[in-house]
Amino acid sequence: MVPEEVAQRPSRRAVAVPELVERARSGDARSVARLISLVEDASPLLREVMAALAPHSGNARIVGITGSPGVGKSTSTSALIKELRSTGKRVGVLAVDPSSPFSGGALLGDRVRMSDHALDPEVYIRSMASRGHLGGLSWTTPQALRVLDAAGCDVILVETVGVGQSEVEIAGLADTTLVLLAPGMGDGIQALKAGILEIGDLFVVNKADRDGANTTRREIRSVVSARESDWKAPIVLTVATTGEGVDEVVTEMERHREYLAGGELERRRLARVGREIEALALGSLRSRMADVTGDARLGSLAADVLAGRSDPFAAADTLVEHL
Ligand code: GDP
Repeated sequence: MVPEEVAQRPSRRAVAVPELVERARSGDARSVARLISLVEDASPLLREVMAALAPHSGNARIVGITGSPGVGKSTSTSALIKELRSTGKRVGVLAVDPSSPFSGGALLGDRVRMSDHALDPEVYIRSMASRGHLGGLSWTTPQALRVLDAAGCDVILVETVGVGQSEVEIAGLADTTLVLLAPGMGDGIQALKAGILEIGDLFVVNKADRDGANTTRREIRSVVSARESDWKAPIVLTVATTGEGVDEVVTEMERHREYLAGGELERRRLARVGREIEALALGSLRSRMADVTGDARLGSLAADVLAGRSDPFAAADTLVEHL
Protein backbone atom coordinates (compact mmCIF):
# COMPACT_ATOMS: atom_id res chain seq x y z
CA MET A 1 0.00 0.00 0.00
CA VAL A 2 1.37 3.39 -0.88
CA PRO A 3 2.22 5.68 2.00
CA GLU A 4 0.42 8.91 2.61
CA GLU A 5 2.91 11.14 0.82
CA VAL A 6 2.36 9.23 -2.39
CA ALA A 7 -1.40 9.22 -1.98
CA GLN A 8 -3.06 12.54 -2.69
CA ARG A 9 -4.15 14.74 0.15
CA PRO A 10 -7.91 14.67 0.30
CA SER A 11 -9.69 17.43 -1.47
CA ARG A 12 -12.51 19.38 0.12
CA ARG A 13 -15.11 18.06 -2.27
CA ALA A 14 -17.99 15.99 -0.94
CA VAL A 15 -17.08 12.45 0.03
CA ALA A 16 -19.43 9.52 -0.26
CA VAL A 17 -18.80 7.96 3.13
CA PRO A 18 -20.26 4.47 2.53
CA GLU A 19 -18.13 4.08 -0.59
CA LEU A 20 -15.01 5.34 1.13
CA VAL A 21 -15.52 2.99 4.07
CA GLU A 22 -16.17 0.05 1.77
CA ARG A 23 -13.00 0.77 -0.19
CA ALA A 24 -10.95 1.17 2.99
CA ARG A 25 -12.28 -2.14 4.26
CA SER A 26 -11.20 -3.85 1.10
CA GLY A 27 -7.69 -2.53 1.72
CA ASP A 28 -7.53 0.51 -0.55
CA ALA A 29 -4.65 2.63 0.78
CA ARG A 30 -5.96 5.92 -0.52
CA SER A 31 -9.28 5.44 1.18
CA VAL A 32 -7.58 4.51 4.45
CA ALA A 33 -5.40 7.62 4.19
CA ARG A 34 -8.39 9.74 3.41
CA LEU A 35 -10.37 8.46 6.38
CA ILE A 36 -7.45 9.22 8.69
CA SER A 37 -7.26 12.71 7.23
CA LEU A 38 -10.93 13.15 8.14
CA VAL A 39 -9.95 12.23 11.71
CA GLU A 40 -7.10 14.75 11.72
CA ASP A 41 -9.34 17.46 10.34
CA ALA A 42 -12.05 16.65 12.90
CA SER A 43 -14.41 16.44 9.95
CA PRO A 44 -18.17 16.58 10.53
CA LEU A 45 -18.30 13.41 8.39
CA LEU A 46 -16.61 11.47 11.18
CA ARG A 47 -19.87 10.57 12.87
CA GLU A 48 -21.00 8.78 9.76
CA VAL A 49 -17.57 7.21 9.23
CA MET A 50 -17.34 5.89 12.78
CA ALA A 51 -20.89 4.54 12.68
CA ALA A 52 -20.03 2.66 9.50
CA LEU A 53 -16.75 1.34 10.94
CA ALA A 54 -18.12 0.29 14.33
CA PRO A 55 -19.20 -3.24 13.35
CA HIS A 56 -15.84 -3.92 11.73
CA SER A 57 -13.43 -3.02 14.50
CA GLY A 58 -11.97 -4.78 17.51
CA ASN A 59 -9.87 -7.34 15.66
CA ALA A 60 -6.50 -5.63 15.54
CA ARG A 61 -3.96 -5.96 18.33
CA ILE A 62 -2.68 -2.58 19.31
CA VAL A 63 0.92 -2.35 20.41
CA GLY A 64 2.25 0.95 21.72
CA ILE A 65 5.96 1.65 21.30
CA THR A 66 7.49 4.28 23.50
CA GLY A 67 10.88 5.47 24.70
CA SER A 68 13.17 8.49 24.64
CA PRO A 69 14.14 10.05 21.31
CA GLY A 70 17.12 8.31 19.71
CA VAL A 71 16.62 5.04 21.54
CA GLY A 72 15.75 3.31 18.26
CA LYS A 73 11.94 3.39 18.07
CA SER A 74 11.78 4.02 14.36
CA THR A 75 14.45 1.40 13.58
CA SER A 76 12.75 -1.10 15.89
CA THR A 77 9.34 -0.43 14.37
CA SER A 78 10.76 -1.13 10.95
CA ALA A 79 12.38 -4.35 12.20
CA LEU A 80 9.13 -5.38 13.86
CA ILE A 81 7.18 -4.79 10.66
CA LYS A 82 9.59 -7.11 8.87
CA GLU A 83 9.26 -9.79 11.52
CA LEU A 84 5.45 -9.55 11.62
CA ARG A 85 5.26 -9.64 7.82
CA SER A 86 7.29 -12.83 7.81
CA THR A 87 4.44 -14.43 9.77
CA GLY A 88 1.91 -13.15 7.24
CA LYS A 89 0.37 -10.43 9.42
CA ARG A 90 -1.12 -7.29 7.93
CA VAL A 91 0.52 -4.43 9.78
CA GLY A 92 -0.53 -0.87 10.46
CA VAL A 93 1.80 1.76 11.84
CA LEU A 94 0.62 4.99 13.34
CA ALA A 95 3.40 7.41 14.22
CA VAL A 96 1.89 10.02 16.47
CA ASP A 97 3.52 13.34 17.14
CA PRO A 98 1.45 15.28 19.61
CA SER A 99 3.80 18.24 19.48
CA SER A 100 3.85 18.69 15.74
CA PRO A 101 1.42 20.64 13.62
CA PHE A 102 2.60 18.68 10.58
CA SER A 103 0.91 15.55 9.46
CA GLY A 104 0.91 13.01 6.70
CA GLY A 105 3.77 13.28 4.30
CA ALA A 106 5.69 16.01 6.07
CA LEU A 107 6.57 13.90 9.04
CA LEU A 108 6.67 10.59 7.28
CA GLY A 109 9.23 11.94 4.84
CA ASP A 110 11.72 12.22 7.70
CA ARG A 111 11.22 8.67 8.71
CA VAL A 112 13.25 7.11 5.96
CA ARG A 113 13.76 3.81 7.71
CA MET A 114 10.09 3.07 7.19
CA SER A 115 10.50 3.37 3.46
CA ASP A 116 11.70 -0.25 3.32
CA HIS A 117 8.03 -1.16 3.62
CA ALA A 118 6.53 1.60 1.49
CA LEU A 119 5.64 -0.68 -1.39
CA ASP A 120 4.30 -3.59 0.62
CA PRO A 121 0.52 -3.68 0.09
CA GLU A 122 0.03 -5.38 3.47
CA VAL A 123 1.64 -2.53 5.41
CA TYR A 124 -0.02 0.82 6.11
CA ILE A 125 2.19 3.51 7.51
CA ARG A 126 0.78 6.79 8.59
CA SER A 127 1.95 9.65 10.73
CA MET A 128 -0.45 11.90 12.45
CA ALA A 129 -0.27 15.18 14.28
CA SER A 130 -2.75 15.86 16.99
CA ARG A 131 -1.84 19.31 18.20
CA GLY A 132 -4.71 21.70 18.30
CA HIS A 133 -7.37 19.06 18.79
CA LEU A 134 -9.57 19.08 21.81
CA GLY A 135 -8.45 16.11 23.80
CA GLY A 136 -5.31 15.69 21.63
CA LEU A 137 -4.10 12.13 21.50
CA SER A 138 -7.05 10.79 23.42
CA TRP A 139 -9.36 12.12 20.76
CA THR A 140 -7.65 11.48 17.44
CA THR A 141 -5.58 8.35 17.96
CA PRO A 142 -8.41 5.94 18.82
CA GLN A 143 -10.32 7.08 15.76
CA ALA A 144 -7.32 6.57 13.49
CA LEU A 145 -6.74 3.17 15.09
CA ARG A 146 -10.32 2.23 14.35
CA VAL A 147 -9.78 3.06 10.69
CA LEU A 148 -6.68 0.84 10.51
CA ASP A 149 -8.44 -1.89 12.45
CA ALA A 150 -11.43 -1.90 10.10
CA ALA A 151 -9.02 -1.93 7.15
CA GLY A 152 -7.99 -5.40 8.29
CA CYS A 153 -4.71 -4.80 10.12
CA ASP A 154 -3.85 -7.73 12.37
CA VAL A 155 -1.39 -5.69 14.38
CA ILE A 156 -1.14 -1.92 14.71
CA LEU A 157 2.06 -0.41 16.05
CA VAL A 158 1.53 3.01 17.59
CA GLU A 159 4.71 4.92 17.98
CA THR A 160 5.09 8.29 19.67
CA VAL A 161 7.48 10.51 17.82
CA GLY A 162 7.45 13.46 20.17
CA VAL A 163 8.71 13.79 23.69
CA GLY A 164 6.84 14.21 26.93
CA GLN A 165 3.78 12.91 28.64
CA SER A 166 2.54 11.34 25.42
CA GLU A 167 4.86 8.46 26.27
CA VAL A 168 2.67 7.58 29.17
CA GLU A 169 -0.53 8.58 27.42
CA ILE A 170 0.12 6.11 24.61
CA ALA A 171 -0.01 3.25 27.10
CA GLY A 172 -3.68 3.97 27.65
CA LEU A 173 -4.32 3.44 23.95
CA ALA A 174 -2.56 0.12 23.52
CA ASP A 175 -3.32 -3.49 24.41
CA THR A 176 0.37 -4.07 24.90
CA THR A 177 2.93 -1.39 25.69
CA LEU A 178 6.48 -1.92 24.63
CA VAL A 179 9.02 0.33 26.34
CA LEU A 180 12.30 0.77 24.56
CA LEU A 181 15.51 1.73 26.36
CA ALA A 182 19.14 1.82 25.37
CA PRO A 183 22.27 1.28 27.46
CA GLY A 184 24.31 4.12 28.84
CA MET A 185 23.61 7.74 29.59
CA GLY A 186 21.50 6.88 32.63
CA ASP A 187 18.58 6.08 30.40
CA GLY A 188 17.19 3.70 33.00
CA ILE A 189 17.14 6.44 35.60
CA GLN A 190 15.54 8.90 33.18
CA ALA A 191 12.90 6.36 32.35
CA LEU A 192 12.18 5.91 36.02
CA LYS A 193 11.68 9.62 36.41
CA ALA A 194 9.34 9.78 33.45
CA GLY A 195 7.35 6.91 34.88
CA ILE A 196 7.69 4.85 31.75
CA LEU A 197 8.94 1.81 33.63
CA GLU A 198 5.52 1.66 35.24
CA ILE A 199 3.68 1.31 31.96
CA GLY A 200 5.72 -1.34 30.13
CA ASP A 201 4.26 -4.78 29.48
CA LEU A 202 7.39 -5.63 27.62
CA PHE A 203 10.81 -4.00 27.83
CA VAL A 204 13.33 -3.89 25.06
CA VAL A 205 16.92 -2.92 25.68
CA ASN A 206 17.91 -1.86 22.19
CA LYS A 207 21.46 -1.09 21.02
CA ALA A 208 22.56 -4.26 22.80
CA ASP A 209 25.66 -4.13 20.59
CA ARG A 210 26.85 -1.37 22.90
CA ASP A 211 28.36 -1.69 26.37
CA GLY A 212 26.06 -1.66 29.33
CA ALA A 213 23.03 -3.53 27.97
CA ASN A 214 23.12 -6.02 30.82
CA THR A 215 23.38 -3.23 33.39
CA THR A 216 20.33 -1.58 31.89
CA ARG A 217 18.51 -4.89 31.97
CA ARG A 218 19.35 -5.29 35.67
CA GLU A 219 18.12 -1.75 36.40
CA ILE A 220 14.84 -2.46 34.70
CA ARG A 221 14.48 -5.83 36.38
CA SER A 222 14.92 -4.33 39.84
CA VAL A 223 11.98 -2.01 39.20
CA VAL A 224 9.79 -4.47 37.35
CA SER A 225 10.21 -7.32 39.80
CA ALA A 226 8.77 -5.08 42.52
CA ARG A 227 5.53 -4.62 40.62
CA GLU A 228 2.49 -6.44 41.85
CA SER A 229 1.12 -8.09 38.77
CA ASP A 230 0.39 -11.58 37.46
CA TRP A 231 2.31 -10.57 34.37
CA LYS A 232 6.05 -10.50 34.83
CA ALA A 233 7.17 -8.11 32.12
CA PRO A 234 9.94 -9.69 30.05
CA ILE A 235 13.10 -7.77 29.14
CA VAL A 236 14.48 -8.51 25.68
CA LEU A 237 17.83 -7.36 24.29
CA THR A 238 17.84 -6.28 20.65
CA VAL A 239 19.99 -4.75 17.97
CA ALA A 240 17.32 -3.13 15.83
CA THR A 241 19.75 -2.22 13.06
CA THR A 242 20.50 -5.90 12.38
CA GLY A 243 17.20 -7.33 13.59
CA GLU A 244 18.86 -9.37 16.31
CA GLY A 245 16.43 -10.28 19.08
CA VAL A 246 13.41 -8.88 17.24
CA ASP A 247 11.91 -12.36 16.78
CA GLU A 248 11.98 -12.73 20.54
CA VAL A 249 10.14 -9.43 20.92
CA VAL A 250 7.38 -10.76 18.67
CA THR A 251 7.27 -14.02 20.67
CA GLU A 252 6.88 -12.05 23.91
CA MET A 253 4.22 -9.85 22.32
CA GLU A 254 2.34 -13.03 21.48
CA ARG A 255 2.76 -14.35 25.02
CA HIS A 256 1.36 -11.09 26.36
CA ARG A 257 -1.61 -11.39 24.03
CA GLU A 258 -2.34 -14.84 25.46
CA TYR A 259 -2.09 -13.43 28.98
CA LEU A 260 -4.47 -10.58 28.09
CA ALA A 261 -7.02 -13.05 26.75
CA GLY A 262 -7.70 -14.10 30.34
CA GLY A 263 -9.89 -11.02 30.92
CA GLU A 264 -7.34 -8.21 31.06
CA LEU A 265 -7.82 -7.33 27.39
CA GLU A 266 -11.50 -6.69 27.93
CA ARG A 267 -10.72 -4.58 31.01
CA ARG A 268 -8.12 -2.49 29.15
CA ARG A 269 -10.31 -1.98 26.13
CA LEU A 270 -13.33 -0.99 28.22
CA ALA A 271 -11.22 1.58 30.06
CA ARG A 272 -9.87 2.86 26.77
CA VAL A 273 -13.25 3.26 25.12
CA GLY A 274 -14.56 4.86 28.30
CA ARG A 275 -11.82 7.52 28.07
CA GLU A 276 -12.57 8.02 24.40
CA ILE A 277 -16.27 8.61 25.08
CA GLU A 278 -15.33 10.97 27.89
CA ALA A 279 -13.00 12.96 25.61
CA LEU A 280 -15.72 13.26 22.97
CA ALA A 281 -18.34 14.24 25.50
CA LEU A 282 -16.05 16.86 27.02
CA GLY A 283 -15.34 18.24 23.56
CA SER A 284 -19.02 18.48 22.89
CA LEU A 285 -19.67 20.15 26.26
CA ARG A 286 -16.86 22.63 25.64
CA SER A 287 -18.28 23.66 22.32
CA ARG A 288 -21.73 24.09 23.87
CA MET A 289 -20.14 26.18 26.61
CA ALA A 290 -18.46 28.29 23.95
CA ASP A 291 -21.88 28.87 22.38
CA VAL A 292 -23.23 30.02 25.72
CA THR A 293 -20.39 32.38 26.58
CA GLY A 294 -21.55 35.87 25.86
CA ASP A 295 -25.08 34.52 25.84
CA ALA A 296 -27.83 36.48 27.58
CA ARG A 297 -28.35 33.65 30.06
CA LEU A 298 -24.74 33.78 31.23
CA GLY A 299 -25.01 37.56 31.49
CA SER A 300 -28.07 37.37 33.69
CA LEU A 301 -26.54 34.63 35.89
CA ALA A 302 -23.45 36.81 36.34
CA ALA A 303 -25.64 39.76 37.26
CA ASP A 304 -27.43 37.62 39.86
CA VAL A 305 -24.13 36.55 41.44
CA LEU A 306 -22.80 40.07 41.44
CA ALA A 307 -25.95 41.38 43.11
CA GLY A 308 -25.82 38.66 45.75
CA ARG A 309 -29.05 37.02 44.53
CA SER A 310 -27.15 33.84 43.71
CA ASP A 311 -23.72 32.30 44.22
CA PRO A 312 -21.28 31.03 41.58
CA PHE A 313 -21.91 27.35 42.36
CA ALA A 314 -25.66 27.65 41.99
CA ALA A 315 -25.22 29.75 38.84
CA ALA A 316 -22.88 27.14 37.32
CA ASP A 317 -25.41 24.41 38.10
CA THR A 318 -28.11 26.40 36.34
CA LEU A 319 -25.85 26.94 33.35
CA VAL A 320 -24.95 23.25 33.07
CA GLU A 321 -28.62 22.26 33.33
CA HIS A 322 -29.38 24.41 30.33
CA LEU A 323 -26.54 23.21 28.11
P1 GDP B 1 14.05 7.02 17.56
O1 GDP B 1 14.32 8.48 17.67
O2 GDP B 1 13.78 6.42 18.91
O3 GDP B 1 13.00 6.65 16.56
O4 GDP B 1 15.44 6.35 17.10
P2 GDP B 1 15.93 5.90 15.64
O5 GDP B 1 15.28 4.62 15.25
O6 GDP B 1 15.78 7.06 14.73
O7 GDP B 1 17.46 5.58 15.92
C1 GDP B 1 18.38 6.54 16.36
C2 GDP B 1 19.79 6.16 15.92
O8 GDP B 1 20.19 4.97 16.59
C3 GDP B 1 19.90 5.87 14.45
O9 GDP B 1 21.11 6.40 14.00
C4 GDP B 1 19.90 4.36 14.37
O10 GDP B 1 20.60 3.87 13.25
C5 GDP B 1 20.61 3.99 15.65
N1 GDP B 1 20.26 2.66 16.13
C6 GDP B 1 19.00 2.12 16.21
N2 GDP B 1 19.06 0.87 16.71
C7 GDP B 1 20.36 0.61 16.96
C8 GDP B 1 21.06 -0.53 17.50
O11 GDP B 1 20.47 -1.55 17.86
N3 GDP B 1 22.41 -0.41 17.63
C9 GDP B 1 23.09 0.71 17.26
N4 GDP B 1 24.40 0.72 17.43
N5 GDP B 1 22.46 1.78 16.74
C10 GDP B 1 21.13 1.75 16.60
